[in-house]
Amino acid sequence: MVGSAMAAALGHDVHFRDKKILLLEAGPRKVSDHLPESYSNRVSSISPGSATLLSSFGAWDHVCSLRFKPFRRMQVWDACSEAMIIFDKNNLEDMGYIVENDVIISALTKQLDAVSDRVEVLYRSRAVGYTWPLPYHTSDTSPWVKIDLADGRRLQTKLLIGADGQNSIVRKAAGIQNIHYQYDQSAVVATLHLSEATDNNVAWQRFLPSGPIALLPWSNLHHSDFIDTAGSVFRSAISLLMPSGTAARQLPPSIARVEPKSRAVFPLGMGHATEYVRQRVALIGDAAHRVHPLAGQGVNMGFGDIACLTHHLSTAAFNGKDLGSIKHLLQFETERQRHNLSLMAAIDLLKRLYSTSVTPFVLLRTWGLQTTNALSPVKEQIMAFANK
Ligand SMILES: Cc1cc2nc3c(=O)[nH]c(=O)nc-3n(C[C@H](O)[C@H](O)[C@H](O)COP(=O)(O)OP(=O)(O)OC[C@H]3O[C@@H](n4cnc5c(N)ncnc54)[C@H](O)[C@@H]3O)c2cc1C
Repeated sequence: MVGSAMAAALGHDVHFRDKKILLLEAGPRKVSDHLPESYSNRVSSISPGSATLLSSFGAWDHVCSLRFKPFRRMQVWDACSEAMIIFDKNNLEDMGYIVENDVIISALTKQLDAVSDRVEVLYRSRAVGYTWPLPYHTSDTSPWVKIDLADGRRLQTKLLIGADGQNSIVRKAAGIQNIHYQYDQSAVVATLHLSEATDNNVAWQRFLPSGPIALLPWSNLHHSDFIDTAGSVFRSAISLLMPSGTAARQLPPSIARVEPKSRAVFPLGMGHATEYVRQRVALIGDAAHRVHPLAGQGVNMGFGDIACLTHHLSTAAFNGKDLGSIKHLLQFETERQRHNLSLMAAIDLLKRLYSTSVTPFVLLRTWGLQTTNALSPVKEQIMAFANK
């Protein structure tokens, strides 16, 4: 998702008109106009900030024409106490969108097709080795990074962007250290059928000592957009009259059954590259940072990297600068590490704080959750930060 989005963002940027952009993808081309009726079990919670980024280069329209589900409320609560926090957008704004990963890939592929005169894509092309230019003080002043493909071809570029996932070969080949550990925990995902019809626009998450359990909204059977919007307007009106009335605890819907063959398991871990850039190289997405999915931030952080890197590269291109120069790459690194590191620390802390049922910790998180829930400006700040 992140590499395709990066290529589409650069392909759309007017300052890159005279540049050659190439996307290397080890996997096959994935695009479809007609999605299967059954939902994929790989979905992502996409923040409004990420949707804005995808809109900025035309991909969000493709998502909307395929399949997605907005949500307007999030309820998070503790299994060891009554504490809970509710994020609620009273003003009809969406809090985020649940989108199948395949839909995002499909939308990005369509957008890459639309800029095919500017971006070339090589599918089933695995990069197997990189040769870096020697440092400037040596006699070799070649500005090219050489890339060897599995089929024997050799390519060269002045700027290599590594978006090759958590086991990034670009990161390893560049000798960039990756601080990482496994959480001795796996995520189980599945498509669920609800027992009764609901508004189905709430994201639910409960912290159990064995790990968080989440229920993300998907389809909206027996509901019309008109009724949903009218209901939201009514709730907004009530919230003006009774400010605390809409933030009441709700019970999650009950589950009727699990969609057959929809279950899958993913080992969970944390990883962070100590550097995101070197001369002529930048890392984005899971290649630079991997987080626990409890906050649904992984790919959103990758999309945030794209917005930041595109901005700096676009300025460099406009000013006629060498795109692979470490100067503007370092600006990208500073901005993104500042954001990503604090988010990663918060996610890791939440994961550890909620993995215990020891009384002092339960008390601490109960007070923390209750205080945060009572302070609307703090909740607004949390939502704004997660949206960057
Ligand atoms: C259970 C679960 C739930 C999640 N839920 C959310 C969520 O709700 N919201 C959210 O924001 N994030 C979520 N995430 C995280 C999100 O899925 C990842 O952050 C995201 O997939 C990372 O995307 P990426 O493009 O950086 O890396 P990847 O998806 O790993 O893609 C790497 C790409 O590089 C290609 N590649 C690799 N090596 C080479 C090579 N040598 N040559 C050529 N191509 C190569 C691969 O083919 C692949 O296409 C979740 C993760 C899990 C496990």
